[in-house]
Amino acid sequence: MAWKYGILFDDALEFLSWMRSNLSAKMTEVHVHHTYSPNHSHFNGKNHRDLQDRMKKYHLKRGFSDIAQHITIFPDGKVMTGRNVNTPPASATGHNDADDDGKHPFMFEMLGNFDKGNDNLTGKQLQSAEQVTRYFWRRGSTIRFHREMADKSCPGTGVGKTWFVNRIKNQKSEPYDKNQNYHRELKINDPMLRGEDVKRVQNRLKSSPVDGIFGYDTREDVVAWQRVHDEKGKVVPAGKGLAADGIVGQKTWQALFGSVT
Ligand SMILES: [Zn+2]
Repeated sequence: MAWKYGILFDDALEFLSWMRSNLSAKMTEVHVHHTYSPNHSHFNGKNHRDLQDRMKKYHLKRGFSDIAQHITIFPDGKVMTGRNVNTPPASATGHNDADDDGKHPFMFEMLGNFDKGNDNLTGKQLQSAEQVTRYFWRRGSTIRFHREMADKSCPGTGVGKTWFVNRIKNQKSEPYDKNQNYHRELKINDPMLRGEDVKRVQNRLKSSPVDGIFGYDTREDVVAWQRVHDEKGKVVPAGKGLAADGIVGQKTWQALFGSVT
């Protein structure tokens, strides 16, 4: 599906897995903003689109060509699309890399006023913000707060840069349980699954890089392999293979390695 304004996703992982098929640009940086206004008091749990439309209207009035941000993250953690991700955002003057060379920052807005004493960035909203940031950070994007690029408090004085970045970098890794003997189900998870078992699968699929982290690239490799292999690991015509769900469950383990004990 092509990029479209106003699509609402239940969470960031759902958005990210959809976005992957629409992303052609290289994201050099990921820019973190809060909306300031509207804030949490304007959100009633149902008015995502209404608030998004109001922001867009305001941005157009300011002379922008479109809504400024690529996505908005709402207090319930839901994600709504804004400006096409393959075009530069209106994030901060002089920092948008607006020359359409296929490289620019990814910009997201967290709905709320996170200046101290106002809204709190917690729960599902924080989780979605982390997932989106981590996705780009793991692909080499630099994390930047709006206040590093302009004389503003954005994304709020209550949101510490070091605190936030540490949450992105120090995600708890899943311990690899040797007793599970490669039987652990491997799939997209937050935090992403890590371990020797992931590495073993990546080696088998000739994935690159073989980093022991089950991310979106690995998932795609699994899907591609499942489509053309049956339960015994034999090559079959595309679509006649295993259920191509991108999950390394028991059947896929067996297909990949023969009997897995
Ligand atoms: Zn901002």
